[in-house]
Amino acid sequence: MIGRIVKVISNQFTVLCNNQIYDCTARGIFRKNREVPLAGDFVEFDVEKKLITKILKRKNELVRPPVSNIDKALIVTSVGIPAFSSNLLDKMLCIIEFNNITPIICFSKLDLLSKSELEEMKTYINYYKNIGYEVYLNTEISEIKQIFKDNVTVFTGQTGAGKSTLLNSLNPNLNLKTDEVSEALGRGKHTTRHTELISLFDGLVADTPGFSALDFYDMSKTDIRDNFIEFNKYRHNCRFADCMHDKESNCYVKKMVGEGRILSSRYENYLNFIRKVS
Ligand code: ZN
Repeated sequence: MIGRIVKVISNQFTVLCNNQIYDCTARGIFRKNREVPLAGDFVEFDVEKKLITKILKRKNELVRPPVSNIDKALIVTSVGIPAFSSNLLDKMLCIIEFNNITPIICFSKLDLLSKSELEEMKTYINYYKNIGYEVYLNTEISEIKQIFKDNVTVFTGQTGAGKSTLLNSLNPNLNLKTDEVSEALGRGKHTTRHTELISLFDGLVADTPGFSALDFYDMSKTDIRDNFIEFNKYRHNCRFADCMHDKESNCYVKKMVGEGRILSSRYENYLNFIRKVS
């Protein structure tokens, strides 16, 4: 039978198959191959022996949280306290795109902004929408509820951005580990592996905050370039096919930055990122 792992506690795996739940173990062979079954994995398993025999090919996997086959990442982004960081948002968008996950942006704490600050924020909000991202405000609860259906979604965003507040607004019965206090206290405290995918609005949601360790761990400069999605629209007009949009002459991306078609903060963040990667 083929099912999906929805919960991992140490070496116990809960497999969901045709709306039934099976508590399984994994074969020693996985240990030999250094393969670790993850929450989100589609697996072949023996119903009688309650044994996982094969992990099907993953479309992606994250280290923290240890979840595979993720479809969407909801980036909760505070624009109040903590203050909006376009650098952090662009970094997360780039990493998420690189992992073949669809990023969705949710801006929070707009009520803390003055009128003029709000106007400035709208420039960003509209820009991210215009380049093709799904963007919500954390008050748009009924719209956000629609994103989960038939998907595995992880929540991410800086500490204090309001992930737990958002989840509580979505479903007050959920007690996810995204709560800011446990996030701060929990690190290093629990040595047992415990990851769970929880049912939410006809989809599954990882119960741990995602991407807390933000780094371009296995991305090259060109990976970073290729995952600034709006640059790809213009790059064919650059003089050099492999243009990094940096010091090259006749770079169309730079021209578009100059004309205000590409947000200058996006371009500055991009340069900042590629310079950090060797
Ligand atoms: Zn260029």
